[in-house]
Amino acid sequence: MPERPYIYYDFTVSICSTCLKRVDAKIVFEDEKVFMLKHCPQHGREKVLIATDIAYYKNCRNYAKRSEMPLKFNTPTHYGCPYDCGLCQDHEQHSCLTVVEVTDRCNLSCPTCYAMSSPSYGRHRTLEEIEQMLDTVVANEGKPDVVQISGGEPTVHPQFFEILDIAKSKPIKHLMLNTNGIRIAKDEKFVERLATYAPDFEIYLQFDSFKKEALEQLRGEDLREVRSKAIEHLNKYNLSTTLVITLQKGLNTDEIGDIIRYALKQRCVRGVTFQPTQEAGRLENYNSSTDRYTLTEVRSAILEQTDIFNANDLLPVPCNPDALVMGYALKLGDEVFPLTRMINPDDLLDNSKNTIVYEQDEKLKGHLLNMFSTGNSVDSVREDLKSIMCCLPDIDAPNLGYDNLFRIIIMQFIDAHNFDVRAIKKSCVHIVNKDMKIIPFETMNLFYRDDKRQYLEQLRTEIIV
Ligand code: SF4
Repeated sequence: MPERPYIYYDFTVSICSTCLKRVDAKIVFEDEKVFMLKHCPQHGREKVLIATDIAYYKNCRNYAKRSEMPLKFNTPTHYGCPYDCGLCQDHEQHSCLTVVEVTDRCNLSCPTCYAMSSPSYGRHRTLEEIEQMLDTVVANEGKPDVVQISGGEPTVHPQFFEILDIAKSKPIKHLMLNTNGIRIAKDEKFVERLATYAPDFEIYLQFDSFKKEALEQLRGEDLREVRSKAIEHLNKYNLSTTLVITLQKGLNTDEIGDIIRYALKQRCVRGVTFQPTQEAGRLENYNSSTDRYTLTEVRSAILEQTDIFNANDLLPVPCNPDALVMGYALKLGDEVFPLTRMINPDDLLDNSKNTIVYEQDEKLKGHLLNMFSTGNSVDSVREDLKSIMCCLPDIDAPNLGYDNLFRIIIMQFIDAHNFDVRAIKKSCVHIVNKDMKIIPFETMNLFYRDDKRQYLEQLRTEIIV
């Protein structure tokens, strides 16, 4: 009998990348890769590469755990996912990280910008609006794990420090500032003042590349001097920093290992987050057919370009296993000890267990025990380790020195090409919109920004008809 050229693995619902209407989608394995096949009655067939590692893709399902819910939902489920955000009652994960966009404006006009920001785009939010947005997050989450002050470029807001003061007055566990680093590079006094917001305050620093050409393609300017000056200032004040790398195939994907090695040498850097480009907003120097980069390609590149991590160190994050990979290491002077391999994956999925599988590494065990100001027992080490092995920086481990932790995150934001309703319901990085809805980052950029609203309403009307 004739055979299909692929193995049919799964079925889901996606959207057409042209008209954004829901379409059926098959997940198939072909040529050692995972593809999504979909068909729009109007725009025809699409075949999208979604993973280059079949074993890893299948293993992600083993990491699904019972969903953690917000304290309240903000919209009814009416039109069906993804047209009901949010969060609607059908969503399957609370906000592990909530982004608060305090301005649309920016001091750059990057060719790659999901928010379309520029020096003249949109407006600054008022302090009243921002406080209301923060209160919305608190109402949903109680004590939000991570809130990220973002934009646009938040440091151009004329009341920037008042915003931080308001945010710090809320019961937020960990506050982040998402910035391109220009003000940090140019104004040391500004950094000195930022440092007064520590602890539980972190800089989420756009970094991207060491190369002039890559920075110009992604950011429109050669920002090499800005990057190095920003790191110099952040090192001086030891202000916790995550380097954020937007990845575009062939542009900066050969630098992944170099960036990790550089990051490990910086006093202020607690980790690196790699984000393959999400096709959304302004995207000028990008070709969809050649420049897409998948989560599994990033993971393979980390394993190939460094000798620090092995396959057991880069695991799916149970909150949102399709979109997030994590790996932790202990940084002690020049020595780096990968930690993730010590976790028993079953324990991550069962909140009642707290056991960690130790390798027979007495040296590492000694280091861990020495790091505790209290407890000093293997059990307390296990408990603290488990609490950091959560989605994004859940740093609820008071005895563990955050200075010594180094975190690798791969975060792949779904776009119209690889959109999967099964996976989007687990999205745990959300944006609080100015209409006080909490919207998954991915669907926000596809449907809920101001310039998309009219089309969303049209789609909704067609569903009702
Ligand atoms: S992504 Fe989540 S919040 Fe949005 S419609 Fe789907 S289930 Fe609801």
